[in-house]
Amino acid sequence: MNTKINVISEIVQHNLCVGCGVCTAICPQKILYIRFSEHGEYLADITEQRKCGDKCSLCLSVCPFSDSSPNESEITNSIFMQIPNINYDSLIGFYLKTLVGSILNEDKRIESTSGGLATWIQEKLLLSGAVDAVINVQPDTDLLFSYKICNTADEIKTGARSCYYPVELSKLLDTIIHSNKRFAIIALPCVCKAIRNLQQKMPYCRKNIPFILGLTCGHNVSKGLIESVCARFGGNPHNITSVKFRKKDPMRYTSDFGIEIKYASTAGDEHSFTTHWTDGYGKYWTNRLFALHACNFCDDIYAECADASFMDAWLSRYKEDWRGHTIMVSRSEKINKLIEQYKEEISQTPISIKEVIQSQYSNLIFKRYKLKQRIKYLKGTGLRIPQKRESALHSIYEIGDQEEIALLYEISLASKHLWNQCDKNYEQFKGRIQTYFVEVDRVEKRKRIYRYLNAILRRLQLLLWRLQS
Ligand SMILES: Cc1cc2nc3c(=O)[nH]c(=O)nc-3n(C[C@H](O)[C@H](O)[C@H](O)COP(=O)(O)OP(=O)(O)OC[C@H]3O[C@@H](n4cnc5c(N)ncnc54)[C@H](O)[C@@H]3O)c2cc1C
Ligand code: SF4
Ligand code: SF4
Ligand code: SF4
Repeated sequence: MNTKINVISEIVQHNLCVGCGVCTAICPQKILYIRFSEHGEYLADITEQRKCGDKCSLCLSVCPFSDSSPNESEITNSIFMQIPNINYDSLIGFYLKTLVGSILNEDKRIESTSGGLATWIQEKLLLSGAVDAVINVQPDTDLLFSYKICNTADEIKTGARSCYYPVELSKLLDTIIHSNKRFAIIALPCVCKAIRNLQQKMPYCRKNIPFILGLTCGHNVSKGLIESVCARFGGNPHNITSVKFRKKDPMRYTSDFGIEIKYASTAGDEHSFTTHWTDGYGKYWTNRLFALHACNFCDDIYAECADASFMDAWLSRYKEDWRGHTIMVSRSEKINKLIEQYKEEISQTPISIKEVIQSQYSNLIFKRYKLKQRIKYLKGTGLRIPQKRESALHSIYEIGDQEEIALLYEISLASKHLWNQCDKNYEQFKGRIQTYFVEVDRVEKRKRIYRYLNAILRRLQLLLWRLQS
C-alpha cells in the first residue's frame, strides 16, 4: 500500500496528472518516470516506492496540480512584476506588448498552425544567439509526436503546427539541466507553470532555460481522439503512422482546419486521408471527448507563466483568410527587441486587450466563468479538487449549466473507457457515444431558448424603463 506522500499519491491517483514529466527531473531518488496509461494519456509512475524520502515532497513542489506548489499569480508576480512599464490583466496575466500578425514567407505560413509567429520567434531566438537550442514538438516515427532539441532553424521549422496529442519532457529534462547550453522551450500553460516551479527549486535552470514560450490552451486530449477520427473515416486506428494537425485549405475558413492522417492497413499498405473540423471531428473537440481530467481545473488561458504566448486569432475579421493569423502576448523586453529587429519578416498590427480576450471567448467561459460551478459539481461526486486562485473563480450562471457541466465531464470520461471497451471499433463506439450527443443537443437547445427569452425580457425591461422616464 502507498503510504508515502508524493505525486503518485496526491496527483496521479486522483487522475490529476497531465504527464508533463517535470517531476521526474527533480526527484533526488530518480524513481519517477512517465508512461502511457491504458487510456492513452501520459502519467507519472514510480519504480521503487520504498526509496521515496519521507520528508521529501520535491515532486509536489513542481507539479502544476499540486496544492503545495505556487499558483500562476504567485509565480508571475515574482517574475514579471518588476519589469518596467509592464501591464496586468486578470485574465491574460502580465503583458508588455500584444500584436496580431503572421510571417510574410507564404510557404512557411501555410505550413504553420495559424500565422507562424511561434516558430518564427524560436528561429529568431536561435539565430540571434539568445539561445543555443530550441525545444519544440516534432513528428516522431515511434510515438507520432515528441519533444526534441533543435540545433538549427531547419530543425525548428519541422516542429511547426500544433499537436493535439500527448507529449512529455522527462527524456529531455536531464539533458537540459546538466547542459551548459541555453534552451528556449515551447509548452502548454500547465507545463510552463511546472517549468517555472522547477526553476524556482533549481535556480540554475533559469540560466539553462532563459525563454519559455507558451501556447494558449483550451484543453488537451488522449491518443483516443486521433485514433477515433482515423477509425471514423475507415482507417486503422491500431497503426497510425503519421498525423498532420491544422492542415490549411484555400477553399475553407481558417477555423475549418484539417487533420491529415496516414495509417497502415492490416495488410500493411500505406493510406492517407484529410478530414476537416466541420466534417465531424469538431464535435468531438467541443464536446470534450478524450479530454484530460486535469483540464477541468485549469484556469490559465494565456500561458501566464511564459515569456511570450501565442494563440489563434479567433476574431471575425481574420476568419476568411485561410492562411491564418497568430495573436502574440509578449512579457519580455528581449523578445520585443527581436520583433523590432526582424520586423520586415512579419506583418504585425497592435491588438487591444479586449480583442485578445474576445479571441478566446469559449475558453474564457469554460476556464473561468464556469470553473466555480464545475468545481462544486465535481466536489459533489467525491473527487479531489486542486486548490484554485480566488481571482479565477468567477461565476456566470445560466439555466442548463449544471446539466452541461455533468454531461461534458461524463463524456470525457466515458469516451476513454468506451474506446477501450470497443477495442477501437468505431461502429460500436459510435453507437454508445451517440446517446451523449443526443443529450448535449437537448441541453444546448434548452440553453438557446433560455438565452432568446432572456434577450426578449431585457428588451422589454429597457422599453418599460424608457416609457417611464
Ligand atoms: C493542445 C493545444 C490546445 C490549444 N488550444 C488553443 C485554444 O484554445 N485557442 C487558441 O487560440 N490557441 C490554442 N492553441 C494554440 C494554437 O493552436 C497555435 O499553437 C497558436 O495559434 C500558434 O500558432 P503559430 O502558427 O504561431 O504556431 P506555429 O508556428 O505552428 O508553432 C507552433 C509551435 O508549438 C509547438 N507545439 C505544438 N504542439 C505542442 C504541444 N502539444 N505542446 C508544446 N508545444 C507544442 C510546435 O512544436 C511549434 O513549435 C492550442 C495548442 C495546443 C497544442
Ligand atoms: S517525494 Fe521525493 S523521493 Fe519521493 S517521488 Fe517525490 S521527489 Fe522522489
Ligand atoms: S509534475 Fe507533471 S508528470 Fe509529474 S505528477 Fe505533476 S502533472 Fe504529472
Ligand atoms: S487546459 Fe490546462 S491543464 Fe489542460 S492541457 Fe491545457 S494548459 Fe494543460
